[in-house]
Amino acid sequence: MGPPGVGKGTQSRLISEHFNVPQVSTGDMLRDHIRNGTDLGRQTQKTLAEGKLIPDDIILDMVKTRLSDDEAANGFILDGFPRTVPQGVGLGVILEHLAVALNAIIVIYVKEDVLLHRLTARRNCTQCGAVYNLVIQPPQIMGVCDRCGGKELVQRDDDKPATIKKRLKTYRQQTLPLLSYYRPTGMIAEVNGEGSAGEVFQQILAVLPQPS
Ligand code: AMP
Repeated sequence: MGPPGVGKGTQSRLISEHFNVPQVSTGDMLRDHIRNGTDLGRQTQKTLAEGKLIPDDIILDMVKTRLSDDEAANGFILDGFPRTVPQGVGLGVILEHLAVALNAIIVIYVKEDVLLHRLTARRNCTQCGAVYNLVIQPPQIMGVCDRCGGKELVQRDDDKPATIKKRLKTYRQQTLPLLSYYRPTGMIAEVNGEGSAGEVFQQILAVLPQPS
């Protein structure tokens, strides 16, 4: 968990590779729907571009399907979900049904000026969705995706400055209350996200319970 631009996507990918578990990113799933022109993609495109949240029932359905898949049978890292208290409650129901328990809630924090700076420098590959930062994590060849060779690295519509402000407000209003919801579980591990991706990842590994 953490506000937009804090590094959730990058850290989730590193966790996914390290523990060999799928990265379940609701933002990536929605962007795939938009890229593929599905009904859900058409339905949600405008809301995403405006920096608002997609309705909880749509998100919960999407996550339920994904977590019920065999691919998630040995664990998963949730990225960008849950984002509201009702999503947290809904996740609890899904996990109970699957007889699976969460083992950590990682909250990454970064000062707001750093977030704004990072988000405006973020670029995404239109072909595979890989994420770069022109300042702190540029591709090896400018404009070319390291992962798939795609030649279109673009700024997300919702990374434009006006939308960024709205997303931060949405985070404060709708997602921060989730921290109070989870605090009593004692599972929250807080990590400072201002170092390099590798440094932040080491902090995460240090606070994560090791899988048995
Ligand atoms: P992200 O890639 O996590 O920054 O998500 C990008 C956008 O997708 C958000 O600003 C929302 O519009 C939408 N989105 C992603 N995850 C969720 C979620 N759990 N609940 C509601 N909307 C979401």
